[in-house]
Amino acid sequence: MLRVEGMKIRYGAVQAVHGVDLNVGNGELVTLIGANGAGKSSILAGIAGSIPPAEGKVLLKGQPLTGLPADVISRKGIALTPEGRRVFAHLTVGENLHLGGAAFAKGNELRARRDSMLSRFPILAERIDQKAGSLSGGEQQMLAIARSLMSQPDLLLLDEPSLGLAPQTIDKVYELIEDLRKQGLTILLVEQNVELALSVADRGYVVANGRIALSGTASELASSDLVRQAYLAI
Ligand code: ATP
Repeated sequence: MLRVEGMKIRYGAVQAVHGVDLNVGNGELVTLIGANGAGKSSILAGIAGSIPPAEGKVLLKGQPLTGLPADVISRKGIALTPEGRRVFAHLTVGENLHLGGAAFAKGNELRARRDSMLSRFPILAERIDQKAGSLSGGEQQMLAIARSLMSQPDLLLLDEPSLGLAPQTIDKVYELIEDLRKQGLTILLVEQNVELALSVADRGYVVANGRIALSGTASELASSDLVRQAYLAI
């Protein structure tokens, strides 16, 4: 589904990503784990086109996306749910969903997509006319994910969905992520909570200092010395 080759990302003189190769198969849930500032969010931004990579290739279903603007990349089938659940706080839940889909569908098709989100996320249906800013952190995360799904992506990029949420709420968000995966969605998940990420992922990559330090199946990573010592504190 997704192949990244030799991706480099620079912010002015700062190089955040130093030639990353990775791939995500159709229907897989793959995680990028690593410390704060390792470069995980930058890799997602490079794939989504919100930060154009300085070098390297990004291919979706074999088609090169390199150099395309973010809105074109989203139309090709990639959606990014950024860190910090950036919903439009002053707009209602319904309006947020509408905006998520407006660039991809119109009229009846847009309404059908919105209704399908509301049946998949009953809590959002209950809160349809409430301002997004009045929702709890977990509900806002659900809304941010639902808004991304309005584009009916082939690949969902999820950046730190557990950040700042209470443990019970994290469980709910992760149940949703597992459900999406079971329904066949391909997901690339960035997560600082390594144990949580490895509990749901098929495979993962450890990102350190803008490079892939290790890759493997989730169980290989969970039992590796590097991951146990550096990230699981075992
Ligand atoms: P976090 O979980 O904190 O987001 P991360 O692994 O996702 O960490 P990135 O956010 O990709 O890491 O950051 C990688 C490096 O790039 C860090 O050193 C960071 O300071 C730097 N960086 C990120 N964004 C910018 C920016 N807009 N301008 C300059 N440097 C940046």
